Amino acid sequence: MDLWFLELRRLAWLCIVLTLSGLVFGAPGVGLALGLGIYLTLHLRQLHALHRWLTRMPQSEPPSASGIWGAIFDRLHTHQKAQAKTQQRLRNTLQRIQDSSEAMSDSVVMLDRRGDLEWWNSSAEAMLGLRPPQDRGQHITNLIRDPRFVDYFDRRAYREPLTLTSPIDDRRVLQFQLTLYGDDERLLMARDITRLHRLEQMRRDFVANVSHELRTPLTVLSGYLETYADHAELMPPRLARSLGQMQDQTARMQNLVDDLLMLSRLEIDQPNPHRERVSLPPLLDTIRRDALALSDGRHRVSIAVESDRALLGDPKELRSAISNLTFNAVRYSGEGCQIVLRWRDHPAGAALEVEDDGEGIDPVHIPRLTERFYRVDKGRSTETGGTGLGLAIVKHVLLRHDARLEIASYPGQGALFRCVFPTQRLTEDQAALA
Ligand code: ADP
Repeated sequence: MDLWFLELRRLAWLCIVLTLSGLVFGAPGVGLALGLGIYLTLHLRQLHALHRWLTRMPQSEPPSASGIWGAIFDRLHTHQKAQAKTQQRLRNTLQRIQDSSEAMSDSVVMLDRRGDLEWWNSSAEAMLGLRPPQDRGQHITNLIRDPRFVDYFDRRAYREPLTLTSPIDDRRVLQFQLTLYGDDERLLMARDITRLHRLEQMRRDFVANVSHELRTPLTVLSGYLETYADHAELMPPRLARSLGQMQDQTARMQNLVDDLLMLSRLEIDQPNPHRERVSLPPLLDTIRRDALALSDGRHRVSIAVESDRALLGDPKELRSAISNLTFNAVRYSGEGCQIVLRWRDHPAGAALEVEDDGEGIDPVHIPRLTERFYRVDKGRSTETGGTGLGLAIVKHVLLRHDARLEIASYPGQGALFRCVFPTQRLTEDQAALA
Protein backbone atom coordinates (compact mmCIF):
# COMPACT_ATOMS: atom_id res chain seq x y z
CA MET A 1 0.00 0.00 0.00
CA ASP A 2 1.14 3.57 -0.68
CA LEU A 3 3.21 4.91 2.21
CA TRP A 4 1.57 8.29 2.08
CA PHE A 5 -1.85 6.71 2.32
CA LEU A 6 -0.74 4.72 5.39
CA GLU A 7 0.68 7.87 6.96
CA LEU A 8 -2.54 9.80 6.36
CA ARG A 9 -4.53 6.89 7.75
CA ARG A 10 -2.36 6.92 10.86
CA LEU A 11 -2.95 10.64 11.33
CA ALA A 12 -6.68 10.22 10.76
CA TRP A 13 -6.93 7.37 13.29
CA LEU A 14 -5.02 9.30 15.90
CA CYS A 15 -7.20 12.38 15.45
CA ILE A 16 -10.46 10.37 15.44
CA VAL A 17 -9.56 8.29 18.51
CA LEU A 18 -8.40 11.28 20.56
CA THR A 19 -11.32 13.51 19.41
CA LEU A 20 -13.78 10.75 20.44
CA SER A 21 -11.96 10.33 23.78
CA GLY A 22 -12.21 14.11 24.24
CA LEU A 23 -15.89 13.90 23.42
CA VAL A 24 -16.35 11.47 26.34
CA PHE A 25 -14.95 14.18 28.62
CA GLY A 26 -16.95 16.90 26.84
CA ALA A 27 -13.85 18.45 25.20
CA PRO A 28 -13.40 17.07 21.62
CA GLY A 29 -11.23 20.08 20.66
CA VAL A 30 -8.71 19.27 23.38
CA GLY A 31 -8.69 15.65 22.21
CA LEU A 32 -7.99 16.71 18.60
CA ALA A 33 -5.24 19.10 19.73
CA LEU A 34 -3.68 16.33 21.80
CA GLY A 35 -3.83 13.97 18.78
CA LEU A 36 -2.09 16.56 16.53
CA GLY A 37 0.44 17.30 19.27
CA ILE A 38 1.35 13.61 19.61
CA TYR A 39 1.67 13.33 15.81
CA LEU A 40 3.90 16.41 15.67
CA THR A 41 6.09 15.11 18.50
CA LEU A 42 6.60 11.81 16.69
CA HIS A 43 7.73 13.68 13.56
CA LEU A 44 9.97 16.03 15.53
CA ARG A 45 11.69 13.01 17.05
CA GLN A 46 12.38 11.56 13.61
CA LEU A 47 13.57 14.93 12.35
CA HIS A 48 15.96 15.13 15.28
CA ALA A 49 17.20 11.60 14.50
CA LEU A 50 17.68 12.57 10.82
CA HIS A 51 19.61 15.69 11.75
CA ARG A 52 21.87 13.73 14.13
CA TRP A 53 22.48 11.10 11.51
CA LEU A 54 23.25 13.61 8.76
CA THR A 55 25.86 15.37 10.91
CA ARG A 56 27.57 12.04 11.61
CA MET A 57 27.40 10.75 7.99
CA PRO A 58 28.89 8.78 6.34
CA GLN A 59 30.24 6.59 9.15
CA SER A 60 27.05 5.61 10.99
CA GLU A 61 24.09 3.42 10.07
CA PRO A 62 20.74 5.24 9.59
CA PRO A 63 18.32 5.41 12.57
CA SER A 64 15.72 2.65 12.57
CA ALA A 65 12.23 3.87 11.74
CA SER A 66 9.06 2.59 10.16
CA GLY A 67 6.59 4.11 7.72
CA ILE A 68 7.43 7.19 5.69
CA TRP A 69 10.50 7.98 7.81
CA GLY A 70 11.87 4.47 7.36
CA ALA A 71 11.55 4.89 3.58
CA ILE A 72 13.26 8.30 3.71
CA PHE A 73 16.16 6.91 5.77
CA ASP A 74 16.52 3.92 3.40
CA ARG A 75 16.56 6.13 0.33
CA LEU A 76 19.13 8.48 1.81
CA HIS A 77 21.28 5.57 2.91
CA THR A 78 21.27 3.97 -0.54
CA HIS A 79 22.06 7.30 -2.13
CA GLN A 80 24.85 7.94 0.30
CA LYS A 81 26.42 4.51 -0.31
CA ALA A 82 26.32 5.05 -4.10
CA GLN A 83 27.94 8.45 -3.69
CA ALA A 84 30.66 7.05 -1.45
CA LYS A 85 31.39 4.40 -4.08
CA THR A 86 31.63 7.01 -6.87
CA GLN A 87 33.89 9.14 -4.71
CA GLN A 88 36.15 6.18 -4.00
CA ARG A 89 36.29 5.34 -7.70
CA LEU A 90 37.20 8.93 -8.57
CA ARG A 91 39.81 8.98 -5.82
CA ASN A 92 41.31 5.76 -7.18
CA THR A 93 41.36 7.12 -10.74
CA LEU A 94 42.98 10.34 -9.59
CA GLN A 95 45.51 8.38 -7.58
CA ARG A 96 46.29 6.21 -10.61
CA ILE A 97 46.74 9.29 -12.82
CA GLN A 98 49.01 10.85 -10.23
CA ASP A 99 50.94 7.57 -9.81
CA SER A 100 51.47 7.24 -13.58
CA SER A 101 52.49 10.92 -13.87
CA GLU A 102 54.79 10.36 -10.92
CA ALA A 103 56.42 7.41 -12.71
CA MET A 104 57.12 9.52 -15.81
CA SER A 105 60.63 10.78 -16.40
CA ASP A 106 59.14 13.92 -17.98
CA SER A 107 57.99 16.80 -15.79
CA VAL A 108 54.24 17.25 -15.48
CA VAL A 109 52.87 20.43 -13.90
CA MET A 110 49.17 21.25 -13.57
CA LEU A 111 48.34 24.94 -13.64
CA ASP A 112 45.03 26.61 -12.82
CA ARG A 113 43.26 29.25 -14.94
CA ARG A 114 45.59 32.00 -13.79
CA GLY A 115 48.73 29.92 -14.35
CA ASP A 116 49.32 29.19 -10.64
CA LEU A 117 50.85 25.84 -9.74
CA GLU A 118 48.36 23.24 -8.52
CA TRP A 119 50.20 19.93 -8.68
CA TRP A 120 53.43 18.52 -10.13
CA ASN A 121 55.31 15.22 -10.20
CA SER A 122 58.71 14.58 -8.66
CA SER A 123 60.50 14.87 -12.04
CA ALA A 124 59.35 18.51 -12.07
CA GLU A 125 61.10 19.02 -8.75
CA ALA A 126 64.37 17.64 -10.10
CA MET A 127 64.13 19.25 -13.56
CA LEU A 128 62.57 22.64 -12.80
CA GLY A 129 63.47 23.02 -9.12
CA LEU A 130 59.86 23.19 -7.88
CA ARG A 131 59.63 22.85 -4.09
CA PRO A 132 56.60 21.43 -2.33
CA PRO A 133 54.75 22.87 -0.55
CA GLN A 134 56.01 26.46 -0.73
CA ASP A 135 55.71 26.74 -4.55
CA ARG A 136 52.09 25.58 -4.60
CA GLY A 137 49.94 28.54 -5.70
CA GLN A 138 52.92 30.42 -7.15
CA HIS A 139 52.61 31.71 -10.71
CA ILE A 140 54.63 29.59 -13.15
CA THR A 141 56.42 32.62 -14.60
CA ASN A 142 57.76 33.44 -11.11
CA LEU A 143 59.56 30.12 -11.22
CA ILE A 144 60.54 29.92 -14.90
CA ARG A 145 61.51 33.49 -15.58
CA ASP A 146 63.14 33.23 -19.00
CA PRO A 147 61.44 35.94 -21.17
CA ARG A 148 61.04 33.40 -24.00
CA PHE A 149 59.02 31.16 -21.67
CA VAL A 150 56.94 34.12 -20.43
CA ASP A 151 56.26 35.05 -24.04
CA TYR A 152 55.35 31.44 -24.91
CA PHE A 153 53.04 31.22 -21.86
CA ASP A 154 51.24 34.48 -22.73
CA ARG A 155 50.85 33.70 -26.42
CA ARG A 156 48.34 30.88 -25.73
CA ALA A 157 49.24 29.28 -29.11
CA TYR A 158 50.94 26.11 -28.01
CA ARG A 159 51.22 24.12 -31.24
CA GLU A 160 55.00 24.14 -31.21
CA PRO A 161 57.13 23.25 -28.19
CA LEU A 162 59.72 25.65 -26.77
CA THR A 163 63.35 24.65 -26.24
CA LEU A 164 65.26 26.32 -23.39
CA THR A 165 68.02 25.55 -20.94
CA SER A 166 66.86 24.31 -17.55
CA PRO A 167 66.11 27.09 -15.03
CA ILE A 168 68.30 25.32 -12.44
CA ASP A 169 71.10 23.82 -14.56
CA ASP A 170 72.27 25.58 -17.71
CA ARG A 171 73.99 22.43 -18.99
CA ARG A 172 70.63 20.76 -19.52
CA VAL A 173 68.33 21.51 -22.43
CA LEU A 174 64.59 21.15 -21.90
CA GLN A 175 61.68 21.09 -24.28
CA PHE A 176 58.55 22.73 -22.86
CA GLN A 177 55.05 22.00 -24.14
CA LEU A 178 51.96 23.71 -22.77
CA THR A 179 48.45 22.36 -23.39
CA LEU A 180 45.13 24.03 -22.65
CA TYR A 181 42.50 21.74 -21.16
CA GLY A 182 39.29 21.75 -19.11
CA ASP A 183 38.17 25.15 -17.89
CA ASP A 184 41.05 27.16 -19.37
CA GLU A 185 43.57 25.29 -17.22
CA ARG A 186 47.02 24.45 -18.51
CA LEU A 187 49.24 21.40 -18.39
CA LEU A 188 52.97 21.97 -18.66
CA MET A 189 55.19 19.11 -19.77
CA ALA A 190 58.97 19.43 -19.83
CA ARG A 191 61.32 16.85 -21.35
CA ASP A 192 65.08 16.64 -21.01
CA ILE A 193 66.46 16.68 -24.57
CA THR A 194 70.10 17.36 -23.68
CA ARG A 195 71.36 14.20 -25.43
CA LEU A 196 69.30 14.83 -28.56
CA HIS A 197 70.41 18.45 -28.59
CA ARG A 198 74.07 17.42 -28.33
CA LEU A 199 73.70 14.89 -31.14
CA GLU A 200 71.99 17.49 -33.31
CA GLN A 201 74.78 19.96 -32.53
CA MET A 202 77.40 17.31 -33.38
CA ARG A 203 75.67 16.65 -36.69
CA ARG A 204 75.61 20.34 -37.55
CA ASP A 205 79.22 20.87 -36.49
CA PHE A 206 80.28 17.82 -38.47
CA VAL A 207 78.61 19.01 -41.67
CA ALA A 208 79.97 22.53 -41.15
CA ASN A 209 83.52 21.23 -40.51
CA VAL A 210 83.54 18.81 -43.43
CA SER A 211 82.23 21.51 -45.77
CA HIS A 212 84.80 23.92 -44.49
CA GLU A 213 87.64 21.41 -44.87
CA LEU A 214 86.55 20.60 -48.43
CA ARG A 215 86.60 24.20 -49.47
CA THR A 216 90.40 24.68 -49.66
CA PRO A 217 91.24 21.53 -51.66
CA LEU A 218 88.39 22.34 -54.03
CA THR A 219 89.67 25.87 -54.56
CA VAL A 220 93.16 24.51 -55.32
CA LEU A 221 91.72 21.91 -57.67
CA SER A 222 89.58 24.36 -59.59
CA GLY A 223 92.51 26.79 -59.79
CA TYR A 224 94.70 24.16 -61.45
CA LEU A 225 91.90 23.04 -63.73
CA GLU A 226 91.39 26.62 -64.85
CA THR A 227 95.09 26.98 -65.59
CA TYR A 228 95.06 23.76 -67.63
CA ALA A 229 91.91 24.84 -69.43
CA ASP A 230 93.75 27.98 -70.56
CA HIS A 231 96.11 25.66 -72.42
CA ALA A 232 93.52 23.18 -73.59
CA GLU A 233 94.49 23.62 -77.23
CA LEU A 234 97.85 22.00 -76.41
CA MET A 235 96.15 18.83 -75.16
CA PRO A 236 94.73 15.86 -77.05
CA PRO A 237 90.98 16.48 -77.66
CA ARG A 238 89.85 13.62 -75.37
CA LEU A 239 91.85 15.02 -72.48
CA ALA A 240 90.50 18.51 -73.17
CA ARG A 241 86.93 17.15 -73.05
CA SER A 242 87.49 15.42 -69.72
CA LEU A 243 89.09 18.58 -68.43
CA GLY A 244 85.83 20.42 -69.18
CA GLN A 245 83.86 17.77 -67.30
CA MET A 246 86.24 17.95 -64.37
CA GLN A 247 85.70 21.71 -64.24
CA ASP A 248 81.91 21.27 -64.28
CA GLN A 249 82.00 18.70 -61.48
CA THR A 250 84.37 20.82 -59.39
CA ALA A 251 82.05 23.81 -59.80
CA ARG A 252 79.14 21.59 -58.70
CA MET A 253 81.03 20.45 -55.63
CA GLN A 254 81.92 24.04 -54.83
CA ASN A 255 78.26 25.05 -55.07
CA LEU A 256 77.30 22.13 -52.85
CA VAL A 257 79.90 23.03 -50.24
CA ASP A 258 78.81 26.68 -50.32
CA ASP A 259 75.15 25.73 -49.85
CA LEU A 260 75.98 23.28 -47.06
CA LEU A 261 78.01 25.94 -45.29
CA MET A 262 75.21 28.46 -45.71
CA LEU A 263 72.67 25.98 -44.28
CA SER A 264 74.94 25.15 -41.32
CA ARG A 265 75.41 28.81 -40.57
CA LEU A 266 71.66 29.40 -40.70
CA GLU A 267 71.12 26.52 -38.27
CA ILE A 268 73.96 27.35 -35.88
CA ASP A 269 73.42 31.12 -35.63
CA GLN A 270 71.08 32.58 -33.04
CA PRO A 271 67.45 32.32 -34.20
CA ASN A 272 66.89 36.05 -34.59
CA PRO A 273 68.99 37.58 -37.36
CA HIS A 274 69.75 41.24 -36.82
CA ARG A 275 67.05 43.59 -37.98
CA GLU A 276 68.24 45.94 -40.67
CA ARG A 277 65.83 47.91 -42.80
CA VAL A 278 65.83 46.18 -46.19
CA SER A 279 64.22 48.09 -49.02
CA LEU A 280 62.81 45.70 -51.59
CA PRO A 281 62.99 47.63 -54.92
CA PRO A 282 66.82 47.85 -55.09
CA LEU A 283 67.19 44.27 -53.82
CA LEU A 284 64.76 42.92 -56.41
CA ASP A 285 66.50 44.95 -59.10
CA THR A 286 69.88 43.36 -58.30
CA ILE A 287 68.36 39.88 -58.24
CA ARG A 288 66.61 40.56 -61.55
CA ARG A 289 69.92 41.48 -63.18
CA ASP A 290 71.59 38.30 -61.81
CA ALA A 291 68.65 36.24 -63.06
CA LEU A 292 68.88 37.79 -66.53
CA ALA A 293 72.60 36.94 -66.61
CA LEU A 294 71.80 33.32 -65.67
CA SER A 295 68.97 33.15 -68.18
CA ASP A 296 71.21 34.46 -70.95
CA GLY A 297 68.28 36.08 -72.73
CA ARG A 298 65.99 33.04 -72.62
CA HIS A 299 63.49 34.53 -70.12
CA ARG A 300 61.71 37.77 -69.40
CA VAL A 301 62.05 38.90 -65.79
CA SER A 302 59.90 41.75 -64.44
CA ILE A 303 59.39 43.40 -61.05
CA ALA A 304 56.08 44.54 -59.53
CA VAL A 305 56.38 46.59 -56.33
CA GLU A 306 52.88 47.05 -54.91
CA SER A 307 53.75 47.71 -51.26
CA ASP A 308 55.60 50.66 -49.77
CA ARG A 309 56.84 48.70 -46.80
CA ALA A 310 60.38 47.57 -46.11
CA LEU A 311 61.54 44.41 -44.38
CA LEU A 312 63.35 44.18 -41.06
CA GLY A 313 65.97 41.46 -41.29
CA ASP A 314 69.32 40.31 -42.54
CA PRO A 315 69.92 41.67 -46.08
CA LYS A 316 72.37 38.90 -47.04
CA GLU A 317 70.07 36.11 -45.94
CA LEU A 318 67.05 37.71 -47.61
CA ARG A 319 68.97 38.19 -50.83
CA SER A 320 70.08 34.57 -50.77
CA ALA A 321 66.50 33.29 -50.25
CA ILE A 322 64.92 35.45 -52.96
CA SER A 323 67.80 34.68 -55.36
CA ASN A 324 67.32 30.95 -54.82
CA LEU A 325 63.62 31.22 -55.69
CA THR A 326 64.33 33.40 -58.72
CA PHE A 327 67.18 31.25 -60.06
CA ASN A 328 64.97 28.16 -59.64
CA ALA A 329 62.33 29.92 -61.74
CA VAL A 330 64.96 30.53 -64.43
CA ARG A 331 66.33 26.99 -64.26
CA TYR A 332 63.00 25.17 -64.23
CA SER A 333 61.01 27.19 -66.75
CA GLY A 334 61.68 26.92 -70.44
CA GLU A 335 62.78 29.40 -72.99
CA GLY A 336 60.53 32.45 -73.48
CA CYS A 337 58.92 32.08 -70.04
CA GLN A 338 57.94 35.08 -67.98
CA ILE A 339 59.14 35.48 -64.38
CA VAL A 340 57.62 38.08 -62.05
CA LEU A 341 59.14 39.23 -58.74
CA ARG A 342 56.29 40.81 -56.79
CA TRP A 343 56.31 42.65 -53.43
CA ARG A 344 52.81 43.27 -52.15
CA ASP A 345 50.68 43.76 -49.06
CA HIS A 346 49.12 40.63 -47.57
CA PRO A 347 46.45 40.14 -44.83
CA ALA A 348 49.20 38.75 -42.54
CA GLY A 349 51.69 41.54 -43.36
CA ALA A 350 53.43 41.53 -46.72
CA ALA A 351 54.40 38.92 -49.30
CA LEU A 352 57.27 38.47 -51.66
CA GLU A 353 56.22 36.35 -54.64
CA VAL A 354 58.28 34.71 -57.34
CA GLU A 355 56.01 33.53 -60.12
CA ASP A 356 56.83 31.84 -63.38
CA ASP A 357 54.75 30.37 -66.20
CA GLY A 358 57.06 27.41 -66.72
CA GLU A 359 56.52 23.68 -66.44
CA GLY A 360 55.18 23.78 -62.84
CA ILE A 361 55.31 21.05 -60.21
CA ASP A 362 52.98 18.16 -59.48
CA PRO A 363 51.21 18.98 -56.13
CA VAL A 364 52.28 15.59 -54.68
CA HIS A 365 55.86 16.87 -54.49
CA ILE A 366 55.05 20.24 -52.91
CA PRO A 367 54.99 19.20 -49.20
CA ARG A 368 58.51 17.71 -49.53
CA LEU A 369 60.17 20.35 -51.74
CA THR A 370 61.94 22.12 -48.85
CA GLU A 371 63.60 18.89 -47.63
CA ARG A 372 67.33 18.72 -48.20
CA PHE A 373 68.24 17.03 -51.48
CA TYR A 374 64.61 16.47 -52.46
CA ARG A 375 64.28 16.87 -56.19
CA VAL A 376 61.33 16.31 -58.47
CA ASP A 377 63.63 15.26 -61.29
CA LYS A 378 67.17 14.53 -60.12
CA GLY A 379 68.64 14.52 -63.62
CA ARG A 380 67.09 17.87 -64.45
CA SER A 381 68.26 19.44 -61.21
CA THR A 382 71.87 18.29 -61.67
CA GLU A 383 71.85 19.32 -65.30
CA THR A 384 70.75 22.85 -64.39
CA GLY A 385 73.41 23.14 -61.66
CA GLY A 386 71.06 22.53 -58.70
CA THR A 387 72.42 21.30 -55.38
CA GLY A 388 69.08 20.16 -53.96
CA LEU A 389 69.55 22.57 -51.04
CA GLY A 390 68.09 25.79 -52.47
CA LEU A 391 64.60 25.55 -51.00
CA ALA A 392 65.94 24.20 -47.69
CA ILE A 393 67.98 27.40 -47.44
CA VAL A 394 64.89 29.48 -48.31
CA LYS A 395 62.89 27.72 -45.59
CA HIS A 396 65.54 28.35 -42.95
CA VAL A 397 65.99 32.00 -43.86
CA LEU A 398 62.22 32.52 -43.67
CA LEU A 399 61.99 30.71 -40.33
CA ARG A 400 64.64 33.05 -38.96
CA HIS A 401 62.53 35.98 -40.18
CA ASP A 402 59.26 34.65 -38.64
CA ALA A 403 57.99 34.17 -42.19
CA ARG A 404 56.50 31.20 -44.00
CA LEU A 405 56.75 29.79 -47.50
CA GLU A 406 53.66 28.97 -49.54
CA ILE A 407 53.96 27.09 -52.83
CA ALA A 408 51.20 26.85 -55.42
CA SER A 409 51.76 25.02 -58.66
CA TYR A 410 50.27 22.59 -61.15
CA PRO A 411 52.07 20.78 -63.95
CA GLY A 412 52.12 22.94 -67.05
CA GLN A 413 50.68 25.96 -65.22
CA GLY A 414 53.80 27.57 -63.78
CA ALA A 415 54.78 27.91 -60.14
CA LEU A 416 54.20 30.54 -57.46
CA PHE A 417 56.50 30.72 -54.43
CA ARG A 418 55.18 33.16 -51.81
CA CYS A 419 57.13 34.29 -48.73
CA VAL A 420 54.70 35.76 -46.19
CA PHE A 421 56.28 38.14 -43.67
CA PRO A 422 54.39 39.10 -40.50
CA THR A 423 53.70 42.72 -39.56
CA GLN A 424 56.39 42.78 -36.85
CA ARG A 425 58.98 42.22 -39.59
CA LEU A 426 57.83 45.24 -41.60
CA THR A 427 58.46 48.94 -41.46
CA GLU A 428 57.87 51.96 -43.65
CA ASP A 429 60.18 52.05 -46.64
CA GLN A 430 61.75 55.50 -46.36
CA ALA A 431 63.35 55.17 -49.78
CA ALA A 432 59.91 54.56 -51.29
CA LEU A 433 58.38 57.48 -49.34
CA ALA A 434 61.10 59.91 -50.40
P1 ADP B 1 67.61 22.23 -56.72
O1 ADP B 1 68.98 22.59 -56.38
O2 ADP B 1 67.46 20.83 -57.19
O3 ADP B 1 66.96 23.24 -57.59
P2 ADP B 1 65.81 23.21 -54.72
O4 ADP B 1 65.71 22.87 -53.27
O5 ADP B 1 66.14 24.61 -55.07
O6 ADP B 1 66.89 22.21 -55.30
O7 ADP B 1 64.48 22.80 -55.44
C1 ADP B 1 63.91 21.52 -55.19
C2 ADP B 1 63.13 21.04 -56.39
O8 ADP B 1 61.96 21.85 -56.57
C3 ADP B 1 63.90 21.17 -57.70
O9 ADP B 1 64.66 20.01 -57.94
C4 ADP B 1 62.77 21.33 -58.73
O10 ADP B 1 62.35 20.08 -59.19
C5 ADP B 1 61.63 21.95 -57.95
N1 ADP B 1 61.44 23.40 -58.26
C6 ADP B 1 61.89 24.45 -57.55
N2 ADP B 1 61.51 25.61 -58.10
C7 ADP B 1 60.78 25.31 -59.20
C8 ADP B 1 60.08 26.07 -60.20
N3 ADP B 1 60.05 27.40 -60.18
N4 ADP B 1 59.43 25.39 -61.17
C9 ADP B 1 59.42 24.03 -61.19
N5 ADP B 1 60.06 23.27 -60.29
C10 ADP B 1 60.73 23.88 -59.30
